[in-house]
Amino acid sequence: MIIAIPKETHSGETRIPMMPESVEKLIKKGAEVSFESGLGTAIGINDEEYLRAGAKAVSDRASLLKSGDIIVQINRPSKEDIALFKRSAVHISNLNPFFEKDTVAALAQAGVKAISMTMMPRTTIAQKMDTLSSQANLGGYVAVVLAAERLNKIFPMMMTPSGTIPPARVFVIGVGVAGLQAIATAKRLGARVEAFDTRPVVEEQVKSLGAKFVKIDLGETGQTAQGYAKELTKEQLDKQRDMMAKHCALADVVITTARLFGRKAPLIVTEQIVKSMKKGSVIVDMAVADGGNVAGSKLDKEVDADGVLIIGLDNLPGHVAVDSSRMYSSNICNFISHFWDDKEKKLAVKLEDEIMQGCLLTQDGKICNTKIQ
Ligand code: NAD
Repeated sequence: MIIAIPKETHSGETRIPMMPESVEKLIKKGAEVSFESGLGTAIGINDEEYLRAGAKAVSDRASLLKSGDIIVQINRPSKEDIALFKRSAVHISNLNPFFEKDTVAALAQAGVKAISMTMMPRTTIAQKMDTLSSQANLGGYVAVVLAAERLNKIFPMMMTPSGTIPPARVFVIGVGVAGLQAIATAKRLGARVEAFDTRPVVEEQVKSLGAKFVKIDLGETGQTAQGYAKELTKEQLDKQRDMMAKHCALADVVITTARLFGRKAPLIVTEQIVKSMKKGSVIVDMAVADGGNVAGSKLDKEVDADGVLIIGLDNLPGHVAVDSSRMYSSNICNFISHFWDDKEKKLAVKLEDEIMQGCLLTQDGKICNTKIQ
């Protein structure tokens, strides 16, 4: 079984889908691995390291894609790439099936077994394969570091003979994986941190990181069985915005990470709230690719909203591409290993396994995932 690893072609993508150490593990299991020449160059890994791990270099991308029984990418495949995949090849990527419907349809039509790592069940056994978590964790770190660099103040409190500098105030909205890491990073840098999430269970986690949890009584909110937030009613969202306004106005940095599985992200920081914020303050909208939590945020742009900087960069993990590639690669290697049939030396698409049930989008020319049908 050939595992093919092409270079990412998405503009601005710096990460790579598989590192030499994962390649070596999969070859030990009996897989053959081919990679597009120059795969790791952008992060300082040369072809020799992949060759030493036992992989084969292919310079012609089309031949590589045509040969793959399993094709591993990070971003959704292009129409041109899909046209080259073998029928019944397994394609593994982070494509978001809710926002990439055309790609899912094209993969189904091509007879490909498309696996989306973003559909990974949030269970203990699946944690080591969870690319959403591994990338969101690093994204949360980058969001804070980026905001600290753009802010014209320092994060920690400083008492010096020249005067006392108060700590920067950071407000984190949405405390899932990215939000928790944003809180931890901002605390490490010495900021005064407040946070809010609609899921009340988060309060303890926020406090354990030394931050303050902002309490807002929105009535019944709760979470789904998978641990995701439920969508708020219009009245609840209006109330949330009202209550959030004063915290945003006081903040030097606002990091928003609020997302809803399979739906557009809620707009929380309205134009009015942005206007009420101090000049020089910084907002990082980590939900920008899902529609955005902040009025005026633009995908892959930094917008100056009358003195307030709104950062809407999508690929934050790509700023730390060495670590994010290592984590993504390890998640994929764990996924393939979990489904690897050691006797047959191939990946078994076991539909009785809840991980495969969750992640498999298409099979036999059809969309087979009930969550997206
Ligand atoms: P996510 O990216 O879907 O959303 C980010 C956060 O935004 C969530 O905490 C959500 O509650 C919050 N949010 C949604 N609407 C909001 C609003 N209007 N205002 C404020 N916040 C809002 O979430 P995620 O990071 O993927 O994590 C979702 C859950 O899954 C968490 O409970 C997390 O701990 C859990 N999780 C479990 C596992 C596992 O057990 N394997 C792995 C990863 C995450």
